[in-house]
Amino acid sequence: MQYFEWYLPNDGLWWRRCAAKAENLQDLGITQVWLPPAYKAICQADVGYAVYDMYDLGEFDQKGTVRTKYGTKQEYLDAISAFHKAGIRVFADIVLNHRMGGDETEDVVAVSDNPENRNEQIEDERVIRVWSKFNFTGRNGKYSTFKWNHTHFTGTDWDEKTHAPGHVYRFLGKHWDRDVDPEWGNFDYLMGMDVDMDNPAVVRETRKWLEWYIREAHIDGLRLDAVKHISFSFYRKLLGTIRKATGMAIPAVGEYWSGELERLTHYLDKVDSRMALFDAALHYNFFNASQGRCALKHIFDNSLVQARPYSAVTFVDNHDTQQGQALQSFVEDWFKPLAYALILLRKEGVPCVFYSDYYGNPPQGRPMVPNLGKLIKARRWYAYGEQTDYFDDEHVVGWSRRGDIEHEYSGMAVVMSDNEGGSIEMDMGAACAGELFYDVLGKCTEPVTVDENGKGKFFTDGRSVSVWVHRRAFEDLIINE
Ligand code: CA
Repeated sequence: MQYFEWYLPNDGLWWRRCAAKAENLQDLGITQVWLPPAYKAICQADVGYAVYDMYDLGEFDQKGTVRTKYGTKQEYLDAISAFHKAGIRVFADIVLNHRMGGDETEDVVAVSDNPENRNEQIEDERVIRVWSKFNFTGRNGKYSTFKWNHTHFTGTDWDEKTHAPGHVYRFLGKHWDRDVDPEWGNFDYLMGMDVDMDNPAVVRETRKWLEWYIREAHIDGLRLDAVKHISFSFYRKLLGTIRKATGMAIPAVGEYWSGELERLTHYLDKVDSRMALFDAALHYNFFNASQGRCALKHIFDNSLVQARPYSAVTFVDNHDTQQGQALQSFVEDWFKPLAYALILLRKEGVPCVFYSDYYGNPPQGRPMVPNLGKLIKARRWYAYGEQTDYFDDEHVVGWSRRGDIEHEYSGMAVVMSDNEGGSIEMDMGAACAGELFYDVLGKCTEPVTVDENGKGKFFTDGRSVSVWVHRRAFEDLIINE
């Protein structure tokens, strides 16, 4: 579960709320949580992506605050410990592409590149004034004495002398890394002070920091921010080095924000599949399907989970696709239960549930996704065994799981429609002959009886999903709700 969203209150209580919820999440069947960036950002209220000091996990008086938006370092460590006690692994959000909130300016010679084609220089060199000195005086050298200056960055978008917007400045003698996403000619530059991954001092310090962070906070895995803006070889090497140094597996999932499958698979090849990627291509299929632009039969077309199931972390929405955020593409309400069934109840991919979908988001007027808890539990207890697909119709699709002997009453039939109601006859196996199946989502109230040949005709309402499980499984899910 992605255990945060963009619009949490800046009350410093988030880590405490995490600790208090750990057991609930364990009961629900959550095995891993992704927590927001935990280090000091440009200001207290920042979500965490405007990074200032990565060694300050809410411990030092910097940027006008000791705590972060989410709390203090001790509260963060306590939250992680609570998750571990509940058997839940913690993924930390790693933001290496840029820094913000420099303490002092430097005058630096820079050229200006065309923002729409960064391979094209459009202005000659001149002196600009940039916020490139990071002294971390509040930390005073604890954990690391490294201080950042303009030599550690490739460029920025702000000249303190002119305040002119719309620039991409590149420091003289620097170049954008070539192995990055090709949008705008070269998408190395995203925002703030762009960290120069070609600088050996930067690489050393970053490795040192990550090793420190893993040991200091006992994190189990990494969610890597903005990987398309960072030299591909940088993360391939870093993950190799850090796994060797710590002797830990350290699973990682990267945010390569692209709906184009080829970009995702190209990246995976470049990093030797040392990380998984969020399946943004599938997310866009969900978004389009929710607006009537993609029929269910094609819902997995050109998705990462179809092309590389072992490298795909599937999701429906996240903090960036929320209303008002940079990548806004929020999947419409009616489709969310279908989308969650598609990521939670199938074999392929590691599904990631979004905090706001599970709990709802009252300030934003967002309802909770109905029955999401039941779908998560249905995955945990009953989504096992051989999977057979029924994706023949354009609009009414489904699949069956045969169940396995390790999980009592496991197995299910899932049917959904993005148009009118319908049904699919599925072969549940001879062992199910005569059994009654019930729709755990309660859309269809009459049970389905599997015939003597093991076949059953399973129904769905229009623009809806039904998850048919054994009678005993149905009773357990209803009682345990
Ligand atoms: Ca970059």
